[in-house]
Amino acid sequence: MSEISIKNLSKSFVDKNGEVIALDNINIDIEKGDIYGIIGMSGAGKSTLVRCMNYLEKPTSGTVEVAGKELGSLKKKELQKHREKIGMIFQGYNLLMQKSVVENICFPLYIQGIKKKEARKRAYELLEIVGLSDKRKAYPSQLSGGQKQRVAIARALAANPEILLCDEATSALDPQTTASILELLKDINEKYNITIVIITHEMSVVKKICTKVAVLEGGHVKKEGEVATIFKEVISDVGA
Ligand code: ADP
Repeated sequence: MSEISIKNLSKSFVDKNGEVIALDNINIDIEKGDIYGIIGMSGAGKSTLVRCMNYLEKPTSGTVEVAGKELGSLKKKELQKHREKIGMIFQGYNLLMQKSVVENICFPLYIQGIKKKEARKRAYELLEIVGLSDKRKAYPSQLSGGQKQRVAIARALAANPEILLCDEATSALDPQTTASILELLKDINEKYNITIVIITHEMSVVKKICTKVAVLEGGHVKKEGEVATIFKEVISDVGA
């Protein structure tokens, strides 16, 4: 059984100009432990697809199965609970600016009802994992972009997710910082067997860390498979 199984998924939006088909009959299977890249140009449907993976966006048709459950079949409370298995990080970090690093990481644990002492213990372990133990009392404004993303990764891992969704997580970072964040993600994948989905418009990100990739174009999956195979095909397509 796949960790994430997307079947016949379509998503359309209606705006003032009429219907926009963001995703058209997507079929993807992501296995446990994969680092799976979803690459495409702006407007290809990447963010919509990743938001369907945790039902922040409800598909117009089709199914999304995550960690053994079809998300469309869950009641609101069950969906909220199941979402704890899915961590997410973003390009803009989405940290609470008025809270310290450690409190940012504790926040999702408090929401789950975990007591302060236990939450802090977990937060310190996570800060160790992301290499930021010395910054626990700092505020987000005192951190570099790479450090902020490390805090966001620690926060996403707080609830012990099985899956980490990364939406353009390195797009605001310089190449060296990008490389160090990708190393950290790879480490987390290997040590904790967390399935990682990486949404990106950058080939170099996919090449560096992903095992498999789907190329999205105009809401369709144009190519899908092992990274090495897909890159060979892309190179031969452009006649290089
Ligand atoms: P990407 O992440 O690859 O840039 P998106 O998933 O954001 O692509 O968008 C895919 C398409 O869906 C685009 O044409 C975009 O304009 C459209 N779209 C996304 N969200 C909405 C929305 N809430 N309302 C209307 N159209 C939307």
